[in-house]
Amino acid sequence: MKKVVVVGSSLAGLRACETLRQQGFGGEIALVGAEDEIPYDRPPLSKKVLAGEWEVDRIRLRKSDEFAGLALDMHLGNAATGLRTDKRIVSLADGSELPFDGLVIATGAIPRRLPGQPELDGVVELRTLANSMALRDRIADGSARVTVIGAGFIGLEVAATTRQRGCAVTVLESAPAPMIRGLGAEMGTAVAATHTRHGVDLRCGVSVAGIEGDDRRVTGVRLADGTLIDSDIVVVGVGVAPATQWLADSGLTLGDGIICDATLQTSAPGIYAAGDCARWPNGVFAGFDDEEMRIEHWTNAAEQGAAAARNMLAVARGEPATPYESVPFFWSDQFDSRIQFVGRAHGDDDIHVFAGDSSANFAALYGFAGRLRGVLGVNMPKMVMPFRALMAAKATWPEALEKAKALAT
Ligand SMILES: Cc1cc2nc3c(=O)[nH]c(=O)nc-3n(C[C@H](O)[C@H](O)[C@H](O)COP(=O)(O)OP(=O)(O)OC[C@H]3O[C@@H](n4cnc5c(N)ncnc54)[C@H](O)[C@@H]3O)c2cc1C
Repeated sequence: MKKVVVVGSSLAGLRACETLRQQGFGGEIALVGAEDEIPYDRPPLSKKVLAGEWEVDRIRLRKSDEFAGLALDMHLGNAATGLRTDKRIVSLADGSELPFDGLVIATGAIPRRLPGQPELDGVVELRTLANSMALRDRIADGSARVTVIGAGFIGLEVAATTRQRGCAVTVLESAPAPMIRGLGAEMGTAVAATHTRHGVDLRCGVSVAGIEGDDRRVTGVRLADGTLIDSDIVVVGVGVAPATQWLADSGLTLGDGIICDATLQTSAPGIYAAGDCARWPNGVFAGFDDEEMRIEHWTNAAEQGAAAARNMLAVARGEPATPYESVPFFWSDQFDSRIQFVGRAHGDDDIHVFAGDSSANFAALYGFAGRLRGVLGVNMPKMVMPFRALMAAKATWPEALEKAKALAT
């Protein structure tokens, strides 16, 4: 293998490039990125950067000399537009073509839009550095009325940060509870109570009929019951979709992500996927909760970028690839709460609060079918991370209860 192309110049793509070099790959690596930015970290975009506390230099994933050390052929601001798996070529927006022996696809995800979403000044999304800096300017004097559509993690982080800047903030969620996909209804409601305490108007179980504006600017959000919420800024935070449109004619198997095997190889040999765009069968949950999964968290993107590169090199050397098995982990910062979660939540779990009190700081186990499926902590870091290894070892519910008891005493 002489030439590797990595498409997606963010966390998973960077980790793939670094791992290739760490593992001794001395051939060419081309890094292709749609954004004209050297890789930066996304989590601060809804937190410290949006709050105006951190500047851009602070979120670069590597210093410029570290990039130089990777000896990458950089193609930034030049999106990949197509893939020929037969000829092993990636086409770029400027019309050029990059041949490859090995390819890692790490194109992440893009925000979903509402049906019929109008193009109005003040209707924004939050995925990129440019999005965050533009929103930061709009909320700088604290006078804006902000409406966030969607009470997922990013929507609620934006709500917390804009509220802390002094804005009047309303959050609209169609589900009966906030953060339902990540935490389940019961815990989502408990954790989001902090928003109400800080003066956010959080409305669940409401349906948005449309976003309204005058000729140019947004003026409000109309609910299905006729209520109008006057707004200067509307943040659409209704989830993301994998960034795979450019692969539509590639012949790769797609389906809410790039379908991979357990080693992160796509349906074409020598082509791997990693991060928010990859869907794979996670062996940790085999025989228990065996759905293929696509994870939209920082830790997964970092780990998968490295794992995809290691497996690509192993196969090229004639060695076996290693299945990527991992217990998902994410964190979220909202007001003074650091939320951490390992594992999965599906809404049908038995929940056992084993430390603290669910009206404030606490830790809880999520159990399903006699096994531990997830652990949540709010400002309880020492109570969460020990369970990651226990879940990787496929802990039973009684084993989890025993561990929780030991930690809590
Ligand atoms: C505002 C925000 C806050 C977050 N906070 C947290 C948090 O607190 N905790 C947590 O665990 N996770 C958090 N996340 C999620 C985490 O940042 C992502 O899981 C992670 O960035 C995924 O990395 P990735 O490399 O797979 O994809 P991305 O970071 O999405 O990067 C993909 C890159 O590929 C580029 N690209 C897309 N299409 C093409 C193409 N056709 N050609 C070339 N390049 C292309 C994109 O422009 C992008 O630069 C947050 C995400 C956001 C947006």
